[in-house]
Amino acid sequence: MASYQTINPFNGQVVGTVELMTAAGIEQRLAAAESVFPQWAALSLDQRGDYLRNIAGGLRARRDDIQRTMTAEMGKLRREALVEIEKSAAACEYYADHAADYLKPQPIPTEAQRSYVIYQPIGCVMAVMPWNFPIWQVIRFLAPGLMAGNVALLKHASNVPGCADLLREVVAATGVPAGVFDVLHIDNEQAAGVLRDRRIKAVTLTGSERAGRSIAANAGDQLKKCVMELGGSDAFVVLDDADLDLAAAAAVRSRFDNAGQTCIAAKRFILVDSIADAFVQRFVETAQARVYGDPQDEASSLAPMARADLRDELHKQVRSSIDKGAKVLLGGAPVADSNAGYQATILDNVGPGMPAYDEELFGPVAAIIRVKDEAEAVRVANDTSFGLGGSVWTRDVLRGENVAVQLECGAAFVNSVVKSDARLPFGGTKRSGFGRELAGPGIHEFMNIKTVYVA
Ligand code: NAP
Repeated sequence: MASYQTINPFNGQVVGTVELMTAAGIEQRLAAAESVFPQWAALSLDQRGDYLRNIAGGLRARRDDIQRTMTAEMGKLRREALVEIEKSAAACEYYADHAADYLKPQPIPTEAQRSYVIYQPIGCVMAVMPWNFPIWQVIRFLAPGLMAGNVALLKHASNVPGCADLLREVVAATGVPAGVFDVLHIDNEQAAGVLRDRRIKAVTLTGSERAGRSIAANAGDQLKKCVMELGGSDAFVVLDDADLDLAAAAAVRSRFDNAGQTCIAAKRFILVDSIADAFVQRFVETAQARVYGDPQDEASSLAPMARADLRDELHKQVRSSIDKGAKVLLGGAPVADSNAGYQATILDNVGPGMPAYDEELFGPVAAIIRVKDEAEAVRVANDTSFGLGGSVWTRDVLRGENVAVQLECGAAFVNSVVKSDARLPFGGTKRSGFGRELAGPGIHEFMNIKTVYVA
């Protein structure tokens, strides 16, 4: 049987060995999902809500195990892991409390006696998820999905199998019927086969553009619905009247938390000339206070990247940007003698043609782009193939809102870093993907939105 090892990115040690599932193991899980679906869908929202509340309780009860596993498998700082686990638990409770509002029938007046829309579950949804928020990414699909009455099979990223198994255990411990949620330890070829199986009704992917092209093509070939949550290169626009202390502190959090491996991290810092030097000074000062170290240690404030190969890939993008004229203000290299550490890095004078301008930098590297005024800032913010999020910083909130509506992205924030929130729809435009997670649009993505018309 094929197997592979997972590696702790901080110390390079083996965390565990995973055996890929056999065809029989996959078949058993697909069959279980199909057979339990009618029973799960027939439960009341209150009954499903009780399970969700118990999942929240289970996440909290096992938070130390889960945190240690996240930190060992993908290097997340302990305190960031604990925040993620609590956010995931709270999202389960949110959907337990609010799914009934999202799912209630919508009357639509027509000439009929009665016409309305109802929301019905579709069956088993496959989730292909990334390692960067190994619990939250799954919960943000799973909590609304289970409340909708769907069942789910998760193919998690190959470096976080332990996180996937812990989540499966937490869900199973609530007593949900077998098959409602399970994990497939499979490679990408096996995943393609699972997606083609008639018992999988739809697929949701959070991951890279490369994975998106492959999975969306497969889903299209099978005429199955898909949601694509892909990469981003969010703009962080600082206008001439911004509160620079507030903006610089937020910029450092957004870019360097999670070792910069966040889809909605600010990646391109677009600064109006009149405040650029003052912002940069604060930004560099605050960023250089980040201390690289063992993510389990409370004193560390910059985590390792999740894998050494990802760190090496990032360094190539940095080197190429420097060769093309970017100026290093901070960092610019791997952390010496580390397995997968990369220094907190700030590049100035970034422009078109450089990877730091054109591509996603999925690590702790900030790109500074200087512009002459607000109009140029908006043009540069939109001069990207991505469209996930963006933020604008100004003391004039109406001006900020005016810029926010012009940003070509799925979520634009004024005087706040972009963040995901169970109450707000989340998703991208352009090559950041399509479809939405969270809130009403998210829960409805994988439902039959059915018209009933009584003449
Ligand atoms: P990735 O390499 O695309 O992996 C994501 C998931 O897709 C993993 O489970 C991976 O499995 C799987 N996968 C990759 N290629 C596949 C294929 N051809 N067929 C089936 N499954 C495939 O991405 P990542 O490096 O883990 O995550 C980083 C990327 O995700 C960044 O671009 C980031 O911006 C994006 N992201 C987006 C969002 C969002 O909400 N829009 C959120 C977080 C991250 P294996 O591990 O087995 O290869």
